Amino acid sequence: MESSSKQAAPANKLTPSAITHYLGQYVVGQEEAKRILSVAVYSHYRKLGKRRPDSVEVAKTNILLIGPTGTGKTLMCETLSHFLSVPFVTANATSLAQSKYVNEEIEALLLRLLEKAGGDIAKAQRGIVFIDEVDKLKTGTEQQGVSGERVQHAMLKIMEGTSVRIGGTQTIDTTNILFICAGAFVGLESITANSQAYGFIATSQDDNQKILDRLNSRVKPTDLFKFGLIPEFAGRLPIIANLESLSKEFLVKIMTEPRNSIYNQFREMLKDEGVELVIEEAAFRQIAEMAFEYKVGARSVRGIFEEMLMPVMYAIPDRPEVRKVVIRSLFEEAELLTAS
Ligand code: ADP
Repeated sequence: MESSSKQAAPANKLTPSAITHYLGQYVVGQEEAKRILSVAVYSHYRKLGKRRPDSVEVAKTNILLIGPTGTGKTLMCETLSHFLSVPFVTANATSLAQSKYVNEEIEALLLRLLEKAGGDIAKAQRGIVFIDEVDKLKTGTEQQGVSGERVQHAMLKIMEGTSVRIGGTQTIDTTNILFICAGAFVGLESITANSQAYGFIATSQDDNQKILDRLNSRVKPTDLFKFGLIPEFAGRLPIIANLESLSKEFLVKIMTEPRNSIYNQFREMLKDEGVELVIEEAAFRQIAEMAFEYKVGARSVRGIFEEMLMPVMYAIPDRPEVRKVVIRSLFEEAELLTAS
C-alpha cells in the first residue's frame, strides 16, 4: 500500500460518514463493513477524546471482522489508521499459537506498535492492533503444545486492558488500544443460520421486516461460542462486521478504481518514462477470471497484473521512442506505439 500518499484527517472531519468516505477511496465494496467499522471507530476515539477523570468509564468495544481471505480486512484497518494518524500493527493468531511463549510474542507486538508510534508511548496507547486468523484459536485446537484456548486467554487480558512491560524498562497500558480481530470462520454461517430460528419475529405491522432480518442475520456471541471461541473472548468482540467474497466485477474495480490502484501505480511509473499506458477492459476481465479461480480474493490480482506488464517494463527503458503502450488482452503482446 502506498501509505505515504495518504492524508490524515483533520480532527473536525472525523464523523462516521467521513471515515466511510475516506475508506471508499481505497477499499472497493464491503459497504456494510465500512459503515460498521466507521461507527465503531468514531465512538472509540470520541470516548478517548472526551475522557475526564470524573467521566463514566465506558467499556471498550473491540471489533471482529469476519470474511474470506483477501477481501480487504487488513486493508480496511490499515487505511483507517492512516486516516486517524494512529500507529497500526498486525499479528497472526496462528503464529502466536505456535510460540511456546505467548506473552513474549504479545510483548514483541506491542513493542512494534511503539516503534510505529516513533517511540511515543501516549501515541502507541491509542493505536490499532489487528490480529488475523483468530478463528484458528478454536478450543480443542493445539499447535506445538500450545492450545488455542490458552492464546485466547492471553489475548483477552491485553484486550481488556492491562499494563504490559516491554523492552525491560517501559510499560504500555493497553486499555485504549483498539483491537480488531479477523478471521474467515469457515462453518460459522451454518451455525448462525441455525440460531436464527430463535430470532426476532414481527409482532405488529409496524415492525420493519428489513430491520428484523438484519438483526436475525447478525452473528451472535452464542454463535461464536459454538464455533469455539471462549465466552469471555467472544464477549470482548461485541462489534462484528461481515466482509463478502469479491466477485469478478469487484476484482476488476480493485485494479482500476482505488486512488492507489495497481493500474494507477503502473501508469504513474510509465509516465515517469514519458509513456502513456492504456489497458483495455478485456484484459482486466481476464485477470479477474484467473484470480477468481485461485480463491484468495484480491490477493492474486497483483501477481497476474505484474506478470502481464513484465515484458513492457523490461523493454521500455531501452526504447525511448515509445510514447504509448496498449494492452488489449492478457494473452496478446502489448502494442508499443512511437511518436510518429
Ligand atoms: P484480508 O481480508 O485477508 O485481510 P487484505 O486486506 O490483506 O485481505 O487484502 C489483500 C490485498 O488485496 C490488499 O492489499 C489489496 O491490494 C487487495 N484487496 C483486497 N480486498 C480489497 C478491497 N475490498 N478493495 C481494494 N483492494 C482490496
